[in-house]
Amino acid sequence: MVELRAGDVVEEKFVVEHDGVRCMDQRGNGACVALDAATMLCTIYESRPQTCRDFTRGESLCRRILGRPAPAV
Ligand code: SF4
Repeated sequence: MVELRAGDVVEEKFVVEHDGVRCMDQRGNGACVALDAATMLCTIYESRPQTCRDFTRGESLCRRILGRPAPAV
């Protein structure tokens, strides 16, 4: 779940509030509502939240979430 921070500008149709915290809403499968299920690309990439900007695909946190070990070097 991506929590929105001050300064994030996201269309309200993508936002849900949990315990007073504004977050990106999720589909039933847990995917962010801004993720295009066909292309697996972010549909709001240019205006994605700061948390998403700070997240590097394939980094240790990403692999831990996906349950994948680090690749052998
Ligand atoms: S990068 Fe885009 S699709 Fe991925 S979590 Fe952030 S807003 Fe959602």
